[in-house]
Amino acid sequence: MTTALPPGVSASEMDRAVEDFTAALGPAAVLTSEEDLREFRDPYAYVGWDEFIASAVVVPDTVEAVQEVVRIANRRRVPLWTFGQGRNNTYGGPAPRVRGSVLVNLRQMNRVLEVSEELAYALVEPGVRFFDLHDHLRAGGHRLWPSIPDIGWGSVVGNTLEYGRGYTPYGDHAAAVCGMEVVLPNGDLLRTGMGAMTRSGCWQAYRWGYGPSVDGLFMQSNFGIVTKMGVWLMPQPEVYLSCFAKFEDDATVEPLVDALRRLMLDGTIRNYPLLAQGVGVGEQEGEVGADNRWAMRFALYGPEEVVHAQYRVAEAALTAIPGVEVEKRWYAGDDLGAVTMHDDKVQCGIPGMELMDRFMEPYGEHTGHLDFSPVSQHTGREVVKVIELMRSLYGRHGIPYIAGLIMSPRSVLHISTSFYDTTDEAQTSSAYDAYAELVTGMAAEGYGLYRTNLRYMDLVAEQYDFNDHALRRFNETIKDALDPNGVLSPGKQGIWPRSMRQAR
Ligand SMILES: Cc1cc2nc3c(=O)[nH]c(=O)nc-3n(C[C@H](O)[C@H](O)[C@H](O)COP(=O)(O)OP(=O)(O)OC[C@H]3O[C@@H](n4cnc5c(N)ncnc54)[C@H](O)[C@@H]3O)c2cc1C
Repeated sequence: MTTALPPGVSASEMDRAVEDFTAALGPAAVLTSEEDLREFRDPYAYVGWDEFIASAVVVPDTVEAVQEVVRIANRRRVPLWTFGQGRNNTYGGPAPRVRGSVLVNLRQMNRVLEVSEELAYALVEPGVRFFDLHDHLRAGGHRLWPSIPDIGWGSVVGNTLEYGRGYTPYGDHAAAVCGMEVVLPNGDLLRTGMGAMTRSGCWQAYRWGYGPSVDGLFMQSNFGIVTKMGVWLMPQPEVYLSCFAKFEDDATVEPLVDALRRLMLDGTIRNYPLLAQGVGVGEQEGEVGADNRWAMRFALYGPEEVVHAQYRVAEAALTAIPGVEVEKRWYAGDDLGAVTMHDDKVQCGIPGMELMDRFMEPYGEHTGHLDFSPVSQHTGREVVKVIELMRSLYGRHGIPYIAGLIMSPRSVLHISTSFYDTTDEAQTSSAYDAYAELVTGMAAEGYGLYRTNLRYMDLVAEQYDFNDHALRRFNETIKDALDPNGVLSPGKQGIWPRSMRQAR
């Protein structure tokens, strides 16, 4: 029935697993046909590759159904791979690390379970998209803003568990999590933080609970399936000011980055600015790769008089650097109807798909791209060093350097992108080969990635090498204890269960 079998699982064993899933979830919630599975391939891999394809998709719609899926996987020894919306494009989309895994598609678990206006949080299920959370807050008349990534079709939970980023003051999504519910690899159900106390009202209000805080164990890991998550939301400000600092000369990057760090550390700028070249930031009609000018978007929020004062401070600091021009657009916090430009929308939590359209321009529907994202310190000298290194490494492969630097007070995520045609195997392969060299080339200088594509999960984990990979050994000790049959997302982030470790 299925063509892609997981390692060590025979066709008849797989058929029995599918029968069990069907008995537990109903036939409509188990997909095995080639046609149904096509949607769940990595959309940015070469169309003919089948290294990361699934054998089946199961679609549970309750926590109990997720628990049952995990129990069946243990009984039948079939690997699972979970996603909320599966829009993890450039990192593999919905596709699994291990060929033949069964995808656990959580799109049907899409309810916003609770919103607290007073405490500014929401409790969401794992299939809730950024579009859904935004619409739910607007429909309910809540004076609360979500933080969203540049494109809105992903799941809040999936994006957050991958350390995804948005661009409001709540844009470090993992840092805005408060309380999770998790199905463990043996089917048991855990609530973290104050959720561990049945009658507590503080599950979404106080993070740490009592004893070790374990939320981080379920981010970028394969230790559980998150079935509920609390997210803190931004109270609607009186005024929102969308700002841009623009310049042309590369020599301006260093002083601008240093000035920004000071403005972020002292709290003048509280959101997560994007410093970009070649992705059309600050332009009405941006074209990817077409422009060598630099632009940084950032935003200010609060009572009108406070925002006026913050703007004066930020403008003075940034325009003191020769060649920098600052632009701004004012909006009332309670009237976002006038916000139409992509940059302005993402900084106030209005999801859209404009950037996706822009990123599909190079090869139309066959456009693929690989994002390469090392982390550096937030100092002018480090940022310039990383840009120069990345330019030279990309340059060796004839790939133009396109930059989108997500700025935090102390660190920078250097997101860069290379485009290729997914119907052209040679072109796709050469982008992938360049990527591998970028990983090792940057690691040689001490720069690690914050997130990567399925194909490079081992290579990137390999670079985190302190004390003979003590962190990986620690993770795999936990993996073996929690998941002795190795059924949950084996290989994710380079964490393998004992039975598959030789695959590394
Ligand atoms: C043009 C473009 C722009 C982008 N801009 C941004 C951006 O601004 N910021 C950003 O962060 N990303 C960005 N991305 C990357 C990506 O599209 C988003 O992060 C997207 O939100 C991820 O998809 P998802 O939310 O559907 O996650 P999913 O695919 O649902 O999940 C991602 C991974 O998390 C794990 N996971 C998901 N759900 C669970 C669960 N319930 N339990 C346990 N593990 C789980 C799985 O390993 C899964 O593979 C961009 C991509 C493109 C193509």
